This record gives sequence, C-alpha cells and structure tokens, in this order.
Amino acid sequence: MGHALNTTIQDIIVRWKRMSGFNTLWLPGTDHAGIATQNVVERQIASEGSSRNEYGRKKFVEKVWKWREQYGRTIVYQLKRLGGSCDWSRERFTMDDGMSAAVREVFVRLYEEGLICRDSYIINWCPRCMTALSDLEVEHENLQGKLYHVRYDLTDGSGFLIVATTRPETIPGDTAVAVNPRDERYRDFTGKTLILPVIGREIPVIADDSVDMEFGTGALKITPAHDPNDFEAGNRHGLPRIKVMGDDGVMNDDAGPYKGMDRFKCRKAILKDMSDSGNLVREEDYTHAVGHCYRCKTVIEPNISKQWFVRMKTLAEPAIRAAEDGSVRFIPKGWENTYFEWMNNIKDWCISRQIWWGHQIPAWYCGRCEGITVSRTDPASCGNCGSPDIRQDEDVLDTWFSSALWPFSTLGWPEETGDLKRFYPTSVLVTGFDILFFWVARMMMMGLKFMGDVPFRDVCIHALVRDAEGQKMSKSKGNVIDPLVIMDQYGTDALRFTLASMASPGRDIKLSEERIEGYRNFGNKIWNAARFIFMNMQEEAVRPDRAALTLPDRWILSRLNSTVRDVTQMLGEYRFDLAAGTIYSFFWREFCDWYLEFAKIQMQEGGNRKENAVAVLVSVLDTSLRMLHPFMPFITEEIWQQLHGSSVMKAPWPSAEDALEDEAAESEMGSVMDIIKNVRSLRSGLNIPPSKEVDVYLKIESDALRKLIGEQMGCIKRLSYAGSVFSGAGTKRPELSAISVFAGGELYLPLAGIIDIDKERGLLEKRFKAIVDEIIRIENKLSNSSFVERAPQEVVLKEKERHRELMDQKSRIESNLSWLK
Ligand SMILES: [Zn+2]
Ligand SMILES: [Zn+2]
Repeated sequence: MGHALNTTIQDIIVRWKRMSGFNTLWLPGTDHAGIATQNVVERQIASEGSSRNEYGRKKFVEKVWKWREQYGRTIVYQLKRLGGSCDWSRERFTMDDGMSAAVREVFVRLYEEGLICRDSYIINWCPRCMTALSDLEVEHENLQGKLYHVRYDLTDGSGFLIVATTRPETIPGDTAVAVNPRDERYRDFTGKTLILPVIGREIPVIADDSVDMEFGTGALKITPAHDPNDFEAGNRHGLPRIKVMGDDGVMNDDAGPYKGMDRFKCRKAILKDMSDSGNLVREEDYTHAVGHCYRCKTVIEPNISKQWFVRMKTLAEPAIRAAEDGSVRFIPKGWENTYFEWMNNIKDWCISRQIWWGHQIPAWYCGRCEGITVSRTDPASCGNCGSPDIRQDEDVLDTWFSSALWPFSTLGWPEETGDLKRFYPTSVLVTGFDILFFWVARMMMMGLKFMGDVPFRDVCIHALVRDAEGQKMSKSKGNVIDPLVIMDQYGTDALRFTLASMASPGRDIKLSEERIEGYRNFGNKIWNAARFIFMNMQEEAVRPDRAALTLPDRWILSRLNSTVRDVTQMLGEYRFDLAAGTIYSFFWREFCDWYLEFAKIQMQEGGNRKENAVAVLVSVLDTSLRMLHPFMPFITEEIWQQLHGSSVMKAPWPSAEDALEDEAAESEMGSVMDIIKNVRSLRSGLNIPPSKEVDVYLKIESDALRKLIGEQMGCIKRLSYAGSVFSGAGTKRPELSAISVFAGGELYLPLAGIIDIDKERGLLEKRFKAIVDEIIRIENKLSNSSFVERAPQEVVLKEKERHRELMDQKSRIESNLSWLK
C-alpha cells in the first residue's frame, strides 16, 4: 500500500506536468535488493533440499537472475495496474549493463581519490545472512535482558574490580578493563593487571576518558574485536584484538573451553562456570537496545573484519550546503532537520556485503605481493608486481551503492548523453521517509560528486499508510490491505483518489474501506453526470454563448475557474490532499448537486436556453475531466474518448481565465441556494415529502435581493418543491408556520393542512426523548474519568463528536416542536 501511495503521487505529478506542456520523464526501474533477494532464493533452494554452496556462485547467481526476471515482471505489472504513466522504453535495473558500468566507474574513481578504502573495522554482522550490514540496516529493539556483574581479581591478589556486562560470552575476548581517570574509586588500579575470569589470561587496567562513571560499577571490560566502542578504545590504547567468535556466531579456538559452542549456548556455559567459581557476583534485570538484522531479524554481532568503506565526510559537505542554500528543498520542510542531523554526524559507509547477488567488487588481490588492483577492466595481472596470480574480491557492493547513482546512471552516465543533458538535475523525487538516508542522502552526495549538481530540486516525502485504527499494517497482525484486491473490488481510480486525498503532509494515512468505497461512489457520480450530458448533447459540442449566460451558468463557470486556479496552486505545493478535496467538492457538491438541477430547468425551456445550458455542462465536464485526470486516469480517459475521440493524456491542463471570474454571480447564487437549502432543511426536519407542495413566504427588506428572487422564482419553486412563493418587505409570518432565518431575511412555511400536526409532534417528541437519553448516556461516559483516561483517544474524540451532533439535532427538534405547539 505504501508503494501504491508512492506511485499515485508520482503519477499525479507526471500527468499534471505532462498536460501542462512540460517535457516530462518518469523513468521506471528496480534495484536488485541484494540481501533480500539472495535470502528469498536461498530459502527457495533450501526447500528443494539444496544450498547456495552446493550450487556454487555461478549457478546460484543464474538462479537469482531467473527469479528476479519473474519478480521484476510482477513489479511492472503492479505499476501498470496502478496506472503509472512511466516511459517503459527507458526501464532500468541496477544490474543491467549500463548501470553496472556506472557502478564500476564510480568505484574506481572514488578509490583513486582515496575516498574508498579497505580496512579492518568493527562492523555489524548478521551471523545468519553471513554478511556485514551498514548501521542503517540494523534495527534496534528494546529487550528485557540481564546485566551481569562479574568479579575480575587483581593478579597481585590485592583486590578486585567488578565489571558489568550484558554479553558475558565475549569475556574470552577481553583485552583490558577501563576506568575513568577521574574516578576516585579506581585511582590505585590503573596500571595493574587482572586475571580474566574462566580464561585465566592477564589483562591490564587502563584509564580512558570515555568510560561512563555512572554506568554499572564504572569499570568497563574492553573487547576490541566484538564491540564498536571497545574497538575505538582498543585503537586508542594499542590493545590486541582477540576474535573469539566465528562469522557464523559459533565460538572459535580463542574461546578456550567454549570452542564450538553457539554464542547463546556459550553465554549460559560461561555464566554457570563463573557462578561456580564465584566470579559472578550478581545479575539484575536490564532493558537495553539489541540490534537485529533488518532482513532476517537475527541478533547482529559486532564483528571485526576486512571491509570496504566509503569515506563520507568529504562527500557529505557539499550535500549539506545544497540543502542549506536551497538547491534542494524538502517537503515538508521539517525533514531538513533530520537530514542535517544525520549528515553532520555521518560515519564511514561499509559497502561490502558477503553475498553473491550484486556487483562484485572490482578489486583483485595479488598472491605474490599482496597488492590490490582496482580496475575499470578486469586485469590479467597484479598492477603492482605484474604477477598473474590474482583473485577478485568475493564480496559484492551494498545495493544502495548502485541505487545512489540512479539519477544519472539511468540517463547514460558516464557517457554524456542527450538524456543526461536534458533531464539532469531532475525536478522531483517522491519517497517515503524510511529511506531518507539509505537512498536520498546518498543520491545527493553521489550526484554532487559526479555531476556537480544536485540530483533533484524537490524531495517530496510522504507518510506511511496504516490501517483504519492507525496501526502499522503487518502480516502478523493480519491487517494488511492488498492494493490489488482493493483495485479489483473498487477500481484503481477509487484507490488512487483515496490515497491522494488522504496524503496530508506529515500525517500518516489511516486507510479504511469506507473511504475507498466513498470515492468509488464519486467515480459513479462522474460517470452518471457524463452519461446525462451525453444524452442531451448535440453531435457537435458548441461553446457557450457568453452573452446569453444565465445566473447559474455564470456562477458555475466562475466556480470552475476558481477550482482550476486553486487545484493548480495546490498541486504546485504538493498538497495532493487539498487538490483532491477541492475537485471533489466542486464536482459533486456544486456541479452535480446544484448546477445540474438548474441546468435541467433551463433545458426544459428549450431553444437557445437549452443549447447554452448543454454547452455549459459540456464545458464544465471537459475542464473537470482534465483536472481529474491525474487523480483518476482510467474513468477520465474513458469519458474523454467518448467526448473527443482522443486521449485526455494529451489534452492541455486547464488554465484559469480571469474573464470567467464573477463575484456578483457567486454572491447572488449564494442567496438563491441559501433560500432553497433553508426550505429543504425545514421540510426534511418535519418529514414533508417532496411530493407535497408547500407555499413559501419570504420577508426580504433589500430591494435588490427581492428583485433577484423574483428573477430566479422558477428555479426556487422547482428546487424547493414550493407551491407558491410570496416575497415582500413586510411579509407577515402565517399562523402555525415553521420559520427559518437566512442572510437577508426570514422565511416561513405554513404547516396547516400540510402535515398531521398531532402525529408529527408525537413523532418529534419521541425522537426528542431518544436523543436526550443518548446525550445523558454520553455525558455520563465522558464525565467518568477512568473511561476518558483509559479509552483510546480516538474513541473519546468520537464520543465528543457524537455529543456535538446530538446537541445540534436536539436544538433543531426543539425549534420544530415549538412551531407545532
Ligand atoms: Zn540476517
Ligand atoms: Zn603483486
């Protein structure tokens, strides 16, 4: 559903801009989703009783290509079903030849400039996927764990230190215990040595400013090979790095007696041994953030290994400046802060992944001199010593490395293509906030580095789609709404219109089927209005004769004009919600509910009147279809084809025409509609059916308004089902009549002989009592503090809203009752 929202927004922008005459490119494509795809295919071959090692690299990658072709087709199918008007002739894939060439070029250039390097580093490691993960690929989850207090005895027997840890299985890898030099408690310990529990190795006590005196006992075990902070501390103090756990999460030779144990089994064994030896002093409950692999949810293990890194600081600086000087804008603007915060604290990016599906790193290691050859073309020998004994790095690049190049690599870079000249920098990127750093920030950095300009001017960031209760959709909760099912049931246009109209900036979308159904009905409304117009249309559509326009004609054309102006402005501000709402209320409330009714009356007059009314109807339909097209491409295309025999995609976006603006008509029609609405509301409150004509008495002091009412008498009578309408400056209120006040006067509806007053009063009194009871029930509920505190806020708000409605109904019934007494 998130992709459906993303696609809808992109397509609205693209269709709108295309109709507005821009040379518009929406270039579709997919990335190869390295780890995720490899996992899926691994599971698939595991279910067939095989493994990736049994396949071997070449065969495995072939298998992934097959899977990817099928998956890629599914993505394209879904995009097309959503109506995405992409340029399919330019479809790209991050592992196609052109993009792979761009990846190679970027890697080599960054390497040559010293911005890519290979280094031993502590990285996040998934022991299940057996690969490095970038910081962003680790999900932190607060878990209830334990903090173990362990006694480390001084070698000289003069005392001990207590060290707190959540991961006792790493104790065999400890190479020091650190204390803060300002910590009075440990002044005499620094420089002495300790005996490592259960292992018996000697380790030093060191002083380090970074130790938090408040945490645990203020003495910190240092395990450089298994913790990122300890890794840094180890570097500061020149400590050895002892790796006690293999890449698969199983303890190795250096773990002594724990060799061969899984890491969690080892934890239990160490705790038992330390408890037996008296080194485990105590354990306490402790909630802490534990990192999990974002793909397979396995607990990640900090691990030391040789990895490839991109040095980010240099690349980040221009990308920070571009946001500061407005070369790139974030919409909504609030995301700018998140962006700055991350960019200012950026860390080096680990780009090597120990999987097979992806761009294999273009680096070759020499068997003779240990030199590294990084090359644009596959080398035959070592660039350092010339030895032919070289082998390519087994690892592949992080998928985001290739995705970061998307805005220019898809346009043909490093060739200087026409597309690149024409379309770079692009105008807008539409994306979810969840990939702001994975993707957006990195595209910024790479674009500025290799193209010398930002990759896009506007970054439009949309919210999440949640279920009707505001819960995140997930398979385990069973609240996932599948766009394909919704499209089958309600149509794509209904889904798109719903997503667009709910896409308020910064607010998550609570998607309910009722909303979608409501917009399906809107589609039906458009269809029925079009059919009515077609039935009354001449072969040849004529333009309205502006000299012969009636008040309702002038009004609807003026309203149409404001709608065009507002919708265009709102789209320019990425307010798809407001734009959709504006078109919706214009087309349904003003055009269908009001103008169509006025037009029917004009059409009955025949001749010029009829011709002009039909011409106005066609003109409004024509413009509305063009405005609706970006939101509802399918129904608008179908109706447009019937209207003009061409595609609405190629029709021009409507432009506002000052000449059509008619304030006088809007204000006069406002008065006419106000009177009709008042009569209708009185009638419905008293259950007077439309078949029963009621006289209407109007007391209006303004001569101008009386004159206007006189001119529009026919329409007022018809649309309020009135017998006769009397209007005068001194109209007296008839006996036993309902009364209503409108801007400019009062109106009275005589009720004698119209309704059975006793029966109606009885019904109203019954209804009145029911409403009062309901009001009391809600008031009791809302004054109950435990309900207000405990119930979800949604429920409380709903009750309050219902209370307001009921109070409103109550006062209306009260006035109706007063007329009947
Ligand atoms: Zn994993
Ligand atoms: Zn060599």
